[in-house]
Amino acid sequence: MMSLPELRSAFDGRAIASNDASYDEARSVFYGGFDRRPALIVRAKHDSDVSGVVRLARESGMELAVRSGGHSLAGYGVSEGGVVLDLRAMKALNIDSAGRTAWAEAGLTAGEYTNAAGAHGLATGFGDTGSVGIGGLTLGGGVGYLVRKHGLTIDDLLAAEVVTADGELVRADTETHSDLFWAIRGGGGNFGVATRFQFRLHEVDTIVGGLLVLPAAPEIIASFVDEAETAREELSTIATVMKAPPLPFLPAAVHGKLVVMAKLVFAGGVEAGEHAIAPFRSLAKPVVDTVNPMRYPEIYPPDQGNHPVASIRTMFLETIDRSVSEAIAAHLLASTAQMAAIEIRVLGGAMAHVSADATAFAHRRSRIMVNIAAMYADPREAAVHDAWADDFAGALRQGDGGAYVGFLGDEGEARVREAYPGSTWERLAAVKGRYDPSNLFRLNQNIPPSKIDRVAPPPCVAAHVER
Ligand SMILES: Cc1cc2nc3c(=O)[nH]c(=O)nc-3n(C[C@H](O)[C@H](O)[C@H](O)COP(=O)(O)OP(=O)(O)OC[C@H]3O[C@@H](n4cnc5c(N)ncnc54)[C@H](O)[C@@H]3O)c2cc1C
Repeated sequence: MMSLPELRSAFDGRAIASNDASYDEARSVFYGGFDRRPALIVRAKHDSDVSGVVRLARESGMELAVRSGGHSLAGYGVSEGGVVLDLRAMKALNIDSAGRTAWAEAGLTAGEYTNAAGAHGLATGFGDTGSVGIGGLTLGGGVGYLVRKHGLTIDDLLAAEVVTADGELVRADTETHSDLFWAIRGGGGNFGVATRFQFRLHEVDTIVGGLLVLPAAPEIIASFVDEAETAREELSTIATVMKAPPLPFLPAAVHGKLVVMAKLVFAGGVEAGEHAIAPFRSLAKPVVDTVNPMRYPEIYPPDQGNHPVASIRTMFLETIDRSVSEAIAAHLLASTAQMAAIEIRVLGGAMAHVSADATAFAHRRSRIMVNIAAMYADPREAAVHDAWADDFAGALRQGDGGAYVGFLGDEGEARVREAYPGSTWERLAAVKGRYDPSNLFRLNQNIPPSKIDRVAPPPCVAAHVER
């Protein structure tokens, strides 16, 4: 292992160790409760730093954590005793507004990319939170405010540059390393470090969007879901049911009562948007209604910088009818966490027009995604809130439930498998066997490499990126 001064001169980006003043800030991730102390953190500046860190981890045997936006629910963006490859300084973005494409470095956040593209009246769909990294989000699939109109984030991914386990930079697209390109569209960080993504951009300028807060009686929850399923594909909704927090924008009369806090985005004209949103407004007298014509990037307000501890469970559902809604209300009211919520995302639309085996994200026919979350400040409470979340998830489960990899915590291999139904798991394991046979990239929702395929050469070995 090199000394710190040697490491500092080996990388153009900053190498940070425990005696560095910025160490504590550099090792922290979005969620609290992860007090891991890596031996080294490298803030990569460019591809060759990334290759250097990958080789260092491989040669030293140190555990490697790859971090873009640091929002992993399992805290995989930081390693205990290993090396952290932090991509947050890699934020180059080249927008070709005429060609409607963009090359984006993996250290950008969804909000940064969206603001820059929004200046051209263009957008690629990411998730619901501006501070989430495009790195982890894209590799998981990407379900957000444009999911029904334009599909998942990966449906707009045209190509990526990836540093593989041997430290080589390769391009992956439908022609070149197409097996890798299939796998990184949903398979997470298992196959290498994505340094740059090429995305398709859509014309998304003025939307009708904002926050609609409704009282959350069970029939209103069920009717909201019905409306969201039958709405035009231009409309995507993310509805959070929770006890109304005592925040100034909510009237005191609803504090502590269950509400549906729904974010709505209609991308398809103002008049049609008002029309599409009217049925939601008439479900009940809105408690708050900020839905109005706005520029798309405004849907990402600045995030608060808190680091909550969270117990989260994710699954797909077929239906949320009156009896499911009653179970939702009962479980939310029973939680003792500072904040307990269920997020309901009605899917369908453009996301469902892609065949299930086209990408490693295979839940194309799933109708509804839900995420159960308890948030609290003290990690010692975790057992209580984990039990609540398990109980809630068990009560809602319909069929095999499944999982969206982006919302998985550290829940074990069986749950990772649920993210990859049918033959997806075996296909991913085979690609993993080709690109990362020693499982260097293992601090993630891990897909162990299959041994059978290890000797097979990649389909296009000549595709190393020369720049
Ligand atoms: C508040 C919040 C809101 C969210 N909202 C949404 C949403 O609306 N839609 C949605 O789809 N998801 C959402 N997510 C889930 C999110 O997409 C995943 O947690 C994602 O992994 C976060 O990416 P990141 O780069 O910020 O996190 P990181 O912790 O940096 O990365 C997560 C993992 O991804 C891998 N990884 C990250 N970057 C790279 C890279 N460049 N190359 C290779 N591997 C990499 C690593 O294995 C890493 O451990 C949300 C998460 C949070 C915390």
